[in-house]
Amino acid sequence: MPNPTQLANRIAKSPTIAMNDKAKQLAAEGHSVIGLAGGEPDFDTPSHIVDAAIKAIRDGETRYAAPSKGIRPLLEAIAVKMERDNNVRVDPMSDIIVTPGGKLALFLALKAMLDPGDEVLIPAPYWVSYPSIATMVGGVPVTVETGSDDNYRLRLEHLRERVTPRSKVLIINSPCNPTGHMLSSEEIEAVATLALEEDLYIISDEIYEKLNFDGRPAVSLASIPDIADRVIIINGMSKAYAMTGWRLGWLAGPTDLIGVAGKFNSQTATSAATFTQHAAVAALNGPQECVEMMRQSYEERRDFMVSSFNSIPNMSCPDIEGAFYAFPKVEETSKSSEEVANVILDEAVVVGVPGNAFGVSKDAHIRFSFAEDMNKLSEAVDRIRAMAHMLA
Ligand code: PMP
Ligand code: GLU
Repeated sequence: MPNPTQLANRIAKSPTIAMNDKAKQLAAEGHSVIGLAGGEPDFDTPSHIVDAAIKAIRDGETRYAAPSKGIRPLLEAIAVKMERDNNVRVDPMSDIIVTPGGKLALFLALKAMLDPGDEVLIPAPYWVSYPSIATMVGGVPVTVETGSDDNYRLRLEHLRERVTPRSKVLIINSPCNPTGHMLSSEEIEAVATLALEEDLYIISDEIYEKLNFDGRPAVSLASIPDIADRVIIINGMSKAYAMTGWRLGWLAGPTDLIGVAGKFNSQTATSAATFTQHAAVAALNGPQECVEMMRQSYEERRDFMVSSFNSIPNMSCPDIEGAFYAFPKVEETSKSSEEVANVILDEAVVVGVPGNAFGVSKDAHIRFSFAEDMNKLSEAVDRIRAMAHMLA
């Protein structure tokens, strides 16, 4: 018998997806589980977006999308959105590819950039899929550690230490999953300096751009003139518009690279679902109050999560600038993050994702999504408080 690829031994199932599946399974078996593992809005997709999809289906928009890189009204809506929200100008017909989800956009971007053995610089804590996707397309992930004691600041000297002649791409995610960290102007400067010095591409994952707190806007790296021609933006509908299950994302950037990604998209996904694309047009061109309403709600939950975790003895949680994750740490413990996550699962029946999945090995962190209703968050915190002495 033939064997599956050797890569199989180096790639695990996504831990966020695995823990989310586990929570859903425990609930189906009748356990009173609180699942805070998956990063998924608890809100329903706003009704005007749902209506646009239903209308598109009824109108017969059920065939392959043409062009395969995205229907023209959506490419134009994305270009208008980018100019309006991000101060970035792109040609809608040559600089954007619409994909079934931002995750595939990331895959196509890396596939278009990397030859076998090329290295991808990834600041940690990172979203779980960056190193795995880099590996799946033949690249080599290289972690650049940042720490909670330094507010997860990305420092030029630390980036430089990890550069080699094979460095090709730097992945930036601001606001960041799992820390919520947003790049300061000094960090943006550091990223730009390194990219120019070392001739790197930058992947700017902006999927949480709308979920920023305390009135501080997220800056798109593609709006920085010196580096605009080497930045590829990843974005999508999942987080801002509560559309995770619709699978709709995009990548946007330099024409030559987008052309390559478009070829790969046509050979794999073919296109994102046609009626979903019509729904995305309604979302991007329609009223934006729904996005602000959800953002405000996440901000209130952020306040609750930060103050709650800081009030539990032996736990600490730094402030969270964006996205919808708390990433608290157990201060004094002999346990690994996986052991901490398991004890919390067994004793509190709350599901989070252990910090090692995000590239943090030193300290025992655990990620909890707070894109969940306040009653459940409050119950989860109460349960963890009651068993926190077992985390030492
Ligand atoms: N980037 C980050 C940082 C994420 O957390 C996610 C969530 N899955 C994605 C990209 C991709 O999201 P989606 O595939 O749902 O568009
Ligand atoms: N991005 C979310 C998370 O980090 C959804 C699951 C996934 O795609 O990883 O939990």
